[in-house]
Amino acid sequence: MVFILKPNVPKEKIDKFITEWEQKGFSTIYSVGTEHTAICLIGNTIAVDLDHVVQTNDIIDFGKRITEQFKAVNRTVHEDDTIVKVGDVSIGEGFFPVIAGPCSVETHEQVLEIARSVKQSGAKILRGGAFKPRSSPYAFQGKQVEGLDMLRLAKKETGLPIVSEIMNQTQVDLFDDVDMVQIGARNMQNYDLLKVVGKLKKPVLLKRGLANTIEELLMSAEYIVSSGNNNVILCERGIRTFETYTRNTLDLSAIAVIKQKSHLPVIVDPSHAAGIRSLVPPLAKAALAVGADGLMIEAHNNPAKALCDGAQSLDLEQFGELMSELKVRAEIEKKIF
Ligand code: PEP
Ligand code: MN
Repeated sequence: MVFILKPNVPKEKIDKFITEWEQKGFSTIYSVGTEHTAICLIGNTIAVDLDHVVQTNDIIDFGKRITEQFKAVNRTVHEDDTIVKVGDVSIGEGFFPVIAGPCSVETHEQVLEIARSVKQSGAKILRGGAFKPRSSPYAFQGKQVEGLDMLRLAKKETGLPIVSEIMNQTQVDLFDDVDMVQIGARNMQNYDLLKVVGKLKKPVLLKRGLANTIEELLMSAEYIVSSGNNNVILCERGIRTFETYTRNTLDLSAIAVIKQKSHLPVIVDPSHAAGIRSLVPPLAKAALAVGADGLMIEAHNNPAKALCDGAQSLDLEQFGELMSELKVRAEIEKKIF
């Protein structure tokens, strides 16, 4: 249940209202937007008489029930778009930053060459997996701690903020100077991990699970935000369907749905959706057109030799060409690229 307050209500009255409800066992979300201020009650509100609350509290303009299970990430509670800062890069309405880099960090030279080149082409954040969640235990598992060191060095040399995947909650300290932690598709419903990253002060890139609904994605984001971390960026990376010509099926409608239902920014990863290099540019352009807030693209200096996901990685020249094409389109969409 959410209550929209009248304009210019004194803070003491707001605090009193919140305390009253918390004493009754509810938790609350207090949200200040440009248009209005809202207080959301979390708990069993079935027995709460909404009209009575509105009539007996002169600070309230109107109230409504929120039918969705997600509250803190719900646009009804927070009507303005959330803008998340990763280093000095903004992600959210009005911006269209591109995150790029290899699937996995392999060597210092590799990640540095890629970082310099994608930066030159206009990428704003460097990606690179150090801990890799692989379907086969025999496949390359990533350079692990050493990989994170390589990524940090690339950050130091290029100034690009970095994002890398955290696999479990014991790794939190390793990610100290990583600018954004990524929760991979396979971990989207690892609730213990979600609660732990919810206690961090840094942004979280939450990828949609291989077979998860949009509602489940938003509920996972709710875990993070309700634990205290509002800096969540959602990522559509394709879902599993009956189709075999692509690695996954990119659900572009998810972007439009999420934009309506939630205030959180949502980006698209066309690389893991497509699984095939030649499909990445058209899907990236479609993501921009449908209203995504950015992209995450795999790019490699030598895709044929990549230790992971070479088939879907653009080479550095292809990445540069795609960036030029996206730049023109971002201008039409009036996005800061
Ligand atoms: C990745 O981005 O490196 C990755 C493993 O992606 P996903 O979790 O979407 O499969
Ligand atoms: Mn990959």
